[in-house]
Amino acid sequence: MGLRRRDFVKAGLAAGATALAGSGAIRGTPLPAPAPPATSGKPVRPVAICSANGLAAVERAMERLRAGEDTLDAAIAGVNLVEDDPEDITVGYGGLPNERGVVQLDSSVMHGPSRNAGAVASLENIRHPSRVAQVVMKRTDHVLLVGPGALEFARLHGFKEENLLTEKSRKIFLYWKETLSGKDDWFTSAEELEDPDLRKYIRTYGTINLNVVDTAGDLSGVTTTSGLFFKIPGRVGDSPIIGAGLYVDNDTGACGATGRGEAVILTCGSHSVVTRMAGGESPEQACLGALQKIVDWSQAPALLDADGRPNFNVKFYAVNKRGEYGSAAIWSNSRYAVHDGSEARLRDCAYLFKRA
Ligand code: ASP
Repeated sequence: MGLRRRDFVKAGLAAGATALAGSGAIRGTPLPAPAPPATSGKPVRPVAICSANGLAAVERAMERLRAGEDTLDAAIAGVNLVEDDPEDITVGYGGLPNERGVVQLDSSVMHGPSRNAGAVASLENIRHPSRVAQVVMKRTDHVLLVGPGALEFARLHGFKEENLLTEKSRKIFLYWKETLSGKDDWFTSAEELEDPDLRKYIRTYGTINLNVVDTAGDLSGVTTTSGLFFKIPGRVGDSPIIGAGLYVDNDTGACGATGRGEAVILTCGSHSVVTRMAGGESPEQACLGALQKIVDWSQAPALLDADGRPNFNVKFYAVNKRGEYGSAAIWSNSRYAVHDGSEARLRDCAYLFKRA
């Protein structure tokens, strides 16, 4: 098997370090040995944890883990169900479009055992951005491809192009466009104006994040989304940003995020949760700690309610190498999906503030 450039560079560095160490040429204190992983070889219970739209996804991911599949393949197989689902208007096929009516998808994947990641942003016409992200990880020396470059890459790898805008998402988009302002030439019908199914999607978010650990303690995660509804074309959220919408450290744990991506990017949200777990916090404590930072950092008046609290939500979903898991949100009444080997179920997230 040929070495990729990155392997070659890594192999070269390792050989160089060995040579220097052997010659006694390195002065000063030797580097400490790396800390042992949290579970030194002990089997753990397999877990799949996901945003609340992923009940079927955790079921499928667990089936794949039980069949001995690689952790990342299992996680991606889970979210593919939701990317395919036209009823989920936050992800993949049927996702809500940008302000020009074009569906632009963001996704990232991170594979714990190989300590590698791949991502795509503003990808159009491909319903499984998570699979394209995995190909970026496996078949390039890069981590993130965006826009037309990402689409061209997907095409070259045989992904099929299609129109991702369903009738449902087109109607919701048109309603938004037609009711945006009284000072333009777009009019809505009286009938549609009263339709509660069309009215509720003003400035909303939605995404799927799924993280898994298998019995060997190996971890992987994936996040995939159509992002902020009616966003400015080219806007990229946290989902394809490694460390923001997803982070996996195979020595510690995995975490992903949903909700207001800008707040997650600014605080390196998922990385911060995994770092807190490495410092000894439980997954739930770590999620709450990272959310508190988001609250502390949200100071723009447009982002605050009358009591000075964020007027948006963010949720984190975390699992550690021992198979302990937890999820938390800024606001109560938030849920997540989990399969911990017994059954797939929805559970309440811990939270910082109780909704009235
Ligand atoms: N975090 C996603 C974004 O900002 C949206 C979401 O999770 O609802 O694009």
